[in-house]
Parts: sequence; C-alpha cells; structure tokens
Amino acid sequence: MAGSGTPCASCKLLRRRCTPECVFAPYFPAEDARRFATVHRVFGASNVSRMLQEVAPAHRADAVSSLVYEASARVRDPVYGCVAAISSLQQQVSQLQMQLALAHAEILICVQQPQQHGHPPAAAALQEQQQQHVLQNAHHLQDSMWT
Ligand SMILES: [Zn+2]
Repeated sequence: MAGSGTPCASCKLLRRRCTPECVFAPYFPAEDARRFATVHRVFGASNVSRMLQEVAPAHRADAVSSLVYEASARVRDPVYGCVAAISSLQQQVSQLQMQLALAHAEILICVQQPQQHGHPPAAAALQEQQQQHVLQNAHHLQDSMWT
C-alpha cells in the first residue's frame, strides 16, 4: 500500500504521491477506485481529508463507511440522497409501532374477555409471535442500512 510504490485509490485519482502518512490509504485501497471517486465527487477530497482528521483513528473506518453510503445515495438520488432511505425507514418504524400497538390492544381484549375470545395462554403465544415478528422486521431494517 503506502510507500510500496502503489498509490491508494485517492492519491491515484488525485495524481499525487501516496506517503506512509496518507489519511486515505487505509480506507481507500487501490483495488477499489470507485469508492473514493464517489466520495470525492460528492464531498471533495479536501473536505473528506479534513473530516477524517477530525475523527479519532478508531472511528475512521465507520466514518468512511457512512461517507461512502451518503455519497452513493446522493449520486443515486440527487434530490433526497440518503434522506430518502431514512424517511422510508422511519415510515416503516412508525407502521411497525402501529402494528405493535394494535397487537397489544388485541391481546388486552383477549385477556379481558377470556370466555368470548379463547384462552389467555393462546393470547400470550400470540403476543410472543407478534413480538418476534416485530423484532425480525427491526433486524431487517438494521441489516439494510449498510448494504
Ligand atoms: Zn494515498
């Protein structure tokens, strides 16, 4: 990588010498030129360099992931960028919260009127099933953030 003669993707694009101190080198390897090109196009190399220097080294990989995500979203959707994804996820969250509230209300009705609506153990099973469903959906939401 740095110093070995092969410049990182950033230095290659910017046509400059990649030094061992290069702030981009650990996160933008030469093999993946597109990642840096996208980030450079949206944020500009000097802004990205400044942002990375303001972040503790332990958090820089995450910062790069989010910059790449935001830049890719902006390229895909010049109007809303990653706000499109965020608002779609917020909508899903509020729909799931509504489903959860409805399920809780149904359970409450089942528990309060055991003669009409069956047995409390069945209600507990239903509640567990609903909670698992909601949790699974929540995991899907988390997974899709970085893919
Ligand atoms: Zn470099």
